[in-house]
Amino acid sequence: MRETDIESLGEQMTRGETTARAVVESSLDAAEKLNHALNAFLQIDRAGALRRVEELDAAADDSRGALAGIPIAIKDNICVRGLQASCGSRILGAYQPPYNATAVERLNAAGAVIIGKTNCDEFAMGSSNENSAFGPVRNPWDTERVPGGSSGGSAAAVAAGIVPVALGSDTGGSVRQPASLCGIVGLKPTYGRISRYGLVAFGSSLDQIGIFGRNARDIGTVLGVIAGRDAHDATTANVPVPDYKSEIERELEGARIGVPRELFGEGLDAEVRASVESAIEAYRELGAEIVDVELPHAKYCIAVYYIIATAEASSNLARFDGVRYGFRAEESPELRAMYRRTRDEGFGAEVKRRIMLGTYVLSSGYYEAYYRKAQQVRTLLKHDFEQAFMQCEAILTPTTPTTAFHLGEKTNDPLSMYLNDIYTCTANLAGIPGISLPCGLSGGGLPIGFQLMGTYWSEPTLLRLAHAYEQAHPFTSHPRVSA
Ligand code: GLN
Repeated sequence: MRETDIESLGEQMTRGETTARAVVESSLDAAEKLNHALNAFLQIDRAGALRRVEELDAAADDSRGALAGIPIAIKDNICVRGLQASCGSRILGAYQPPYNATAVERLNAAGAVIIGKTNCDEFAMGSSNENSAFGPVRNPWDTERVPGGSSGGSAAAVAAGIVPVALGSDTGGSVRQPASLCGIVGLKPTYGRISRYGLVAFGSSLDQIGIFGRNARDIGTVLGVIAGRDAHDATTANVPVPDYKSEIERELEGARIGVPRELFGEGLDAEVRASVESAIEAYRELGAEIVDVELPHAKYCIAVYYIIATAEASSNLARFDGVRYGFRAEESPELRAMYRRTRDEGFGAEVKRRIMLGTYVLSSGYYEAYYRKAQQVRTLLKHDFEQAFMQCEAILTPTTPTTAFHLGEKTNDPLSMYLNDIYTCTANLAGIPGISLPCGLSGGGLPIGFQLMGTYWSEPTLLRLAHAYEQAHPFTSHPRVSA
């Protein structure tokens, strides 16, 4: 396993022990070599990445950005000019967007080198990566198991040591959940922290680009590069972007961490519970005060999330009609038949299920009973968090109820699949940030993660708490499949 993180790679390059070309080449080699086992990449861009390295080599030393020569992987629902953006769907297939997402623009400006596009659940709908039209991603810890979803390709690429960092998207947990199942760190920032321009919309009021890495410091570095106001996305906030790296080192003494005990009950695997309990103890030993908090409406989060997310998805996915993007069904007698056939052949089963569900909850007569009710409960959930954050800086929960499950284990039971998001989707509904960190291995050798959530714009606090934990309890295990 290559011990690669942004800081050590940067230092090695500065000292002349390695070069951007060597770093990027070994990342590309690993991506190509491991893709047979993992199916983490839908496109590997060797030529483009090596061209970028040449540009970087030619640039003056003082123009080197914070991510100069750092290889990075991008989920296939985030637009990179010249590369595909299939979103894991047949309906987009080899579609190539003519522009870069803002996050991608900013990564490029900081010198990062994009090595490819990662596999994901179709339109980011899923918790296991089995909904990709291009086959499932496999978990590097056990290739018979799922890596989590929907950003499973990005998570697997970081966990396997192919890249130090990767971008994903998180609508209900799709960065934190696969981070947890793959033994790495995953951050979903505050809604409005990172521009969604160039992120293909799923549930627009929930979607955020998120970051995978092997430690909190690297996540802070990438967040510092891509966060901030963007004229292309009116939902980005004009909140200053702090220097996350300097904030990370601040003392933890006196921090208060809230634990919602009611979330540690039914459905939580015993080994996961024990491991998360030991993370709570670790914080106590580090000088944090542990307080009980209540989130009385959290128990409704799955129902609320799957109403709001599907409602928004049904509207967002109306644009895929065979006219504007990607795939078009052959030989349709007339326009409406062409729309129907394109969508029938282009979308997978889960996406169709969501479009139908979303259309239903928005339809006249049901809107009041489902969609409006869900929005009302969403507001109550936000109030729960506001109350809780009066007593603590962060709330600690498990990230997922179980460790990585077997491929095929939940594919026939959408409800049990949806329950994977029970700890994560609350943060999206409230718009607050959450981070998942590895805290141990199960008896069967699978990673376990825990989650910290904070109030709006509290990323510095979350990263500081994460960093303190990492220093005291470094996670040093490696997956079976790795570079
Ligand atoms: N698993 C959730 C879903 O299927 C979350 C997906 C996501 O965060 N993109 O909707």
